[in-house]
Amino acid sequence: MSRIADNLATVQARIRQACVLSGRDSASVRLVAVSKLHPASVITEAAASGQQIFGENYVQELVDKAGQLNDPIEWHLIGHLQSNKVKYLPGIVSMIHTVDRLSLAQEIDRQWRNKQDTSCAVLVQVNVSGEATKSGTTATEAVELVRQIARLPNIRVRGLMTMPPFFDDPEAARPYFKELRLLAEQIRNEQIPGVEMAELSMGMSGDFEVAIEEGATLVRVGTAIFGER
Ligand SMILES: *Cc1c(COP(=O)(O)O)cnc(C)c1O
Repeated sequence: MSRIADNLATVQARIRQACVLSGRDSASVRLVAVSKLHPASVITEAAASGQQIFGENYVQELVDKAGQLNDPIEWHLIGHLQSNKVKYLPGIVSMIHTVDRLSLAQEIDRQWRNKQDTSCAVLVQVNVSGEATKSGTTATEAVELVRQIARLPNIRVRGLMTMPPFFDDPEAARPYFKELRLLAEQIRNEQIPGVEMAELSMGMSGDFEVAIEEGATLVRVGTAIFGER
């Protein structure tokens, strides 16, 4: 087995184990392989071992790689997104994890309509920790933002995403994951038409097991699969 195939198998086994320990169906957690700053060749290698969803942070890099690869890949944009870059994404990405402001959602709606692509699935990024350096709407503003996005016809809210502060101890991230889950429940209770709170995108190489225990449905794992960047 190649190193990447081996790493993928290990990560998948850890996901299954975390599901068993928390009484969850392992089919309810999907792995987003974060390939940023790694060459397209490693994506082909991971795809050959059955990995389907790949996450990229930078629009130019994502578009370049998508153009180079013929593998049946589902691309997710997981990095901070500037409105002027949105136009490159319809027809390529199937989910954007980082919608944190109405103006960005409006631009996604406009570009998806222009390209006559099916509506774009998005997650609302919430800055649960309130760190000034992190993107994301505040927990308080999230409900209203979801309500406003829900009125746009070519964009569908499918859930929430967060990035807690970095800790050496993954347990320290747990309160942030839990808060995102509770916020999703609160938004679900609002029963906003067209809004689904089906996905919680949380957990990275250092803490994805804890995130799964707290309800993650999409874990974004880079280093544990592809090595250091
Ligand atoms: C880079 C990145 C990841 C993956 O981080 P690793 O620690 O390498 O697993 C996940 N989510 C986002 C938003 C990232 O930018």
